Amino acid sequence: MSRSPSLPERPRLELDPDMTPDERLEALREHFKEIVQVNEQLTEQLDAARDRQHDLTDEVDQLERENETLKTSSLYIATAEELTDDGVVVKQHGNNQEVLTEVSPSIRDGLEAGDRVAINDSFGVKQILDPETDARAQAMQVDGSPDVSYEDIGGLEEQIREVREAVEEPLVNADQFREVGIEPPSGVLLHGPPGTGKTMLAKAVANETDATFIKMAGSELVRKFIGEGARLVRDLFELAAEREPAIIFIDEIDAIAAKRTESKTSGDAEVQRTMMQLLSEMDGFDERGEIRIIAATNRFDMLDRAILRPGRFDRLIEVPNPDKAGRERILEIHTTEMNLDDDVDLGAFAAETDGLSGAELASLATEAGMFAIRDGRTTVKQSDLHDAYEKIEADDDASSVPVAFA
Ligand code: ATP
Repeated sequence: MSRSPSLPERPRLELDPDMTPDERLEALREHFKEIVQVNEQLTEQLDAARDRQHDLTDEVDQLERENETLKTSSLYIATAEELTDDGVVVKQHGNNQEVLTEVSPSIRDGLEAGDRVAINDSFGVKQILDPETDARAQAMQVDGSPDVSYEDIGGLEEQIREVREAVEEPLVNADQFREVGIEPPSGVLLHGPPGTGKTMLAKAVANETDATFIKMAGSELVRKFIGEGARLVRDLFELAAEREPAIIFIDEIDAIAAKRTESKTSGDAEVQRTMMQLLSEMDGFDERGEIRIIAATNRFDMLDRAILRPGRFDRLIEVPNPDKAGRERILEIHTTEMNLDDDVDLGAFAAETDGLSGAELASLATEAGMFAIRDGRTTVKQSDLHDAYEKIEADDDASSVPVAFA
């Protein structure tokens, strides 16, 4: 949706053959002035684009540095066994290696024997970890009864039908599936651009089936500490078993299930271990009872095909940006509580908002309300919707490079 700033018109010189030499000279002077003016405007635009390019280059550098830090700063989990005058004895989880190591006074003050700590490659204690239960609670979002229903979702009738068939039916009519003798899909993968309603779909199924909704972000699973990802996946499935019926929703699945790369850093190995744990949990799924798993990604192209094999995420559902009818329905949903003026025509407005996602339409509705309030009104007019659209587009433009100079 980024638009380039319009370029000034190229000045034209039209000389009438009947002009006197003085008139010609005057016309040429005028033309020269116009050219100088246009040149100034272009120079200004070029400078603005260069500034923007400079800012963006800084941003890219910063992100690259952050990325490097994230990749290289993996820590290991250990337990502080004993605090002595010479240092702290830590035992690394996994290989049970015991080491005497030094700790900085600031960490030492808060440390007690038995605490879980994060250590680096040289066994330096980098931080004290929260108790295990907290790690579980921090990484997962558990909702006993999410408040989203199918009616709150606009433009995804086909996707709702598929999700109901693949996830809701097997939970509600498990016996029927057994009797017919077919295995329901273990996992459903929702893929599509950001803000199109993937999380809403997963929540709505949980709501409709009275299942507990357990959400975990793929990035959370791999960002933490070496060895934690696989354990969190195990915890996730254990928690679901305790709370069944349950819907496990793994957002950003690409963070743990991206195509294998050639590099062999410890970070990649950790991602691999986390994914293997997920696959083995899914493969041993049959005995688990009333648990269904839904994953979502904006980067379908990046996924490792291993997770799409039969018995795993074998039902793929595309959740695209809404079409015109979908946008109209989403606008209706997000304006039901709003006081709309008679001049508001959501259908006509929907026709003008091609390319917007559900999330963008939702914030557009709120923004239109803000325009009405700023204007001292209590009803929202069609013009507020247009103003809100322009604002959203302008915000969007501000965060992208002008195409003409990119
Ligand atoms: P992401 O990929 O960024 O995680 P998502 O596809 O999971 O996004 P949601 O979190 O479900 O998107 O949607 C965000 C918000 O946008 C919702 O809370 C809702 O207000 C609005 N929204 C998105 N899609 C729809 C839709 N189809 N119908 C109604 N509202 C929608």
